[in-house]
Amino acid sequence: PRVAQQVAAGEVVDRPASVVKELVENSLDAGASRVEVELGDGGTSHILVRDDGSGMARDDAALSVLRHATSKLRSVGDLESVATLGFRGEALPSVASVSSFCLTTSTGEGAGTKVLVDGGGEAKVLPASHPRGTTILVDRLFYNVPARRAFLKGPRAERAAIIETLTHLAVAHPKVAFRLSEGGRDYLSLPVSGDGDLLERLAQVHGVAKARSMRKVEYESGAFRVSGYAALPSLTESNRARQTISVNGRWVRAENLTRGIDDAYRSTLPSGRYPPVALRIEVDPRRVDVNVHPTKQVVRFSEERAARAAVAAAVREAIEWRPS
Ligand code: ADP
Ligand code: MG
Repeated sequence: PRVAQQVAAGEVVDRPASVVKELVENSLDAGASRVEVELGDGGTSHILVRDDGSGMARDDAALSVLRHATSKLRSVGDLESVATLGFRGEALPSVASVSSFCLTTSTGEGAGTKVLVDGGGEAKVLPASHPRGTTILVDRLFYNVPARRAFLKGPRAERAAIIETLTHLAVAHPKVAFRLSEGGRDYLSLPVSGDGDLLERLAQVHGVAKARSMRKVEYESGAFRVSGYAALPSLTESNRARQTISVNGRWVRAENLTRGIDDAYRSTLPSGRYPPVALRIEVDPRRVDVNVHPTKQVVRFSEERAARAAVAAAVREAIEWRPS
């Protein structure tokens, strides 16, 4: 079972950035208002994620590293309308099977708990002190899976992937404060002031001038509501790192939807240029399937063409509007 778990782990976590994604999504599901990530060597030596969310009671903490012990789905019917980012109960057991894993947590009432797992071995559960919330330390990722460890790039490239992942998550969750640091240096520092406005978050990550020149997106058609911001075609980047799309609150990588963005700019852009865009799509959860892939980043719509068309129309309307 240990080997099977390590194989399965490869589907959920293939590099430090995917560990960060899974841990931070758990923090968001726990209602955190602040998430801090600390790295050693770009995440290749360690990754620490700390949140001020709900925390876990002792028994839940012990269960959390067991396979498919998700606390988030109560019934099969829930799968039709998942409201949480996680639901498969795979991330913690997977990460714990390929690292030296230490989780410390507390609900803020009574004593806290520490759960230690080394390379998928038996969990040690101990009392510990911790403020309300959870801290997870993933030490020496893939130390026991040399073939996968060999695929890791250097600290700089892995850190860059983490910065990109965390930036997408931060844009998808503007009401949550994020921080990324390594060796005392801040790589991202994204506080929340006021009510956590998306444009403010975009100003933090893209710079104030760029964010100011973005146009507001506000569109509704049939089953789809699309909102957010889109840059004018004069402001482009050489990749899609600054295009964030969320579907019902979940940051996704959906080719079908990014094609919709391309459709909107098609006539105005040289190919290989990508304007910054932050889109939030809301759709009846029964019309979208997020359980297509273990990372839950792939989404499938019951009406793919309508989804792409809605994104295209929403962005087009925003960038074509001119004040008279
Ligand atoms: P999933 O998110 O799919 O439920 P995970 O393996 O990611 O599965 O997490 C297992 C369980 O551990 C979650 O269902 C949740 O109950 C708990 N958990 C994980 N991380 C946190 C956290 N940061 N704060 C509170 N609970 C957490
Ligand atoms: Mg999860």
